[in-house]
Amino acid sequence: AKEKGRNDFQIFNSDMKSVSINRLKLENELRKAIAGDEFILYYQPQVDIESGRIVGIEALIRWDHPERGIISPNHFIPFAEESGLIVPIGEWVLRAACKQNKAWQIQGFPPVPISVNLSMRQFFQHNLKGKISYVLEQTGLDPQYLELEITESMTMDVDHAIQSLLELKELGVNVSIDDFGTGYSSLYYLKKFPIDKLKIDRSFVRDIMVDPNDAAIVATIIAMTHHLNLKVIAEGVETEDQLRFLHQNRCNEVQGYWFSPPVSAEKIESMLNGNAHV
Ligand code: C2E
Ligand code: CA
Ligand code: CA
Ligand code: CA
Repeated sequence: AKEKGRNDFQIFNSDMKSVSINRLKLENELRKAIAGDEFILYYQPQVDIESGRIVGIEALIRWDHPERGIISPNHFIPFAEESGLIVPIGEWVLRAACKQNKAWQIQGFPPVPISVNLSMRQFFQHNLKGKISYVLEQTGLDPQYLELEITESMTMDVDHAIQSLLELKELGVNVSIDDFGTGYSSLYYLKKFPIDKLKIDRSFVRDIMVDPNDAAIVATIIAMTHHLNLKVIAEGVETEDQLRFLHQNRCNEVQGYWFSPPVSAEKIESMLNGNAHV
């Protein structure tokens, strides 16, 4: 077998065949992907636990590589973050997601917010507010139908984070904290952040039926969000038992394979059509 150099990255295509790619090659390929429109968005529904209706959609990037097929974000987003290419990629995602959501509204689907993941570099970018505002203007999407997901690690620099969040709130967009519980989070500052929603990380949801500690953590996070007047969504809901536990503990929304994995635009459209009985 060929030696894997330190500078190589493991890429997996949809058949999980692994290909080792040199960093420089990966960087060039990513640049080509940005220029050549090789990225696509998949969409995963966020479901209201009481009504069973789709009340939000998370946009998740895929790389539709001409030779290697669909590549999952876990295999190129970390490198894109490192190299800075996440900035143009993130801008593409933001524009594509806003454009798609506006198109759905024009087609007459009931309007729901679309969630877009923001990377650390994007969040701390100079003039983030101006950039987002420009995309909203260009696409014609009402800011209330855009939600930005940031992770806990981006809130470590508290003053900077509050400043950026206030600017985003001025635009009228929603903000949620993704993967909540996995990072260092100061509960003291949580109440000071102008955010709308917490997303409980999948790692806690996964074992709620088998690990009493995880069950207690999830129940506590949900209760806390109600006290702080935040909405709460559980990620990675895969079973009916998990759904029942979350319902009993008054979680607002759920997202996970139990309802649907991330799917193509066409598939989410047919789910939106049957929105009354997801
Ligand atoms: P994330 O933001 O935490 O997204 C949720 C991930 O969990 C998605 O993986 C989704 O497919 C997966 N997932 C959803 N429900 C379930 C479930 O019930 N069970 C299991 N096992 N998994 C579930 P995906 O699409 O591969 O994305 C992985 C990560 O890549 C995302 O995690 C996010 O951190 C990053 N990512 C994806 N798209 C973007 C993007 O446009 N920009 C940035 N900066 N990061 C992105
Ligand atoms: Ca997310
Ligand atoms: Ca997440
Ligand atoms: Ca995650």
